[in-house]
Amino acid sequence: MKERTPISLIPLIHAFKFTGDPDPVNEYYKETVIKEYVTPNPGFVCKECHQVLSVHGYCETPKGGRIACPSDMIILGIQGYYPCKLATFHKTHEHYENHEYVPMEDS
Ligand SMILES: [Zn+2]
Repeated sequence: MKERTPISLIPLIHAFKFTGDPDPVNEYYKETVIKEYVTPNPGFVCKECHQVLSVHGYCETPKGGRIACPSDMIILGIQGYYPCKLATFHKTHEHYENHEYVPMEDS
């Protein structure tokens, strides 16, 4: 029996930064995964980021709607997209280009 070498797998995720700006990328994602946050008080200030609510986005997740602050990362999880604070994202993820890609050997 052929001896197997243990391998470590780096899970890859797909994510993008929500800026709240009307740039083409944000507009695309606004139409698809992140909706405009509709609130009766668009001029109110967010408790998290201290920016007005009108620049925020909204994600439908299996656990309910989540408000996305400008600069939040929007992560594609198993059950859809969800927002994550940028600082938390940087603590828990690394950019793929920082890793050397090692292809798996044929068995
Ligand atoms: Zn906010």
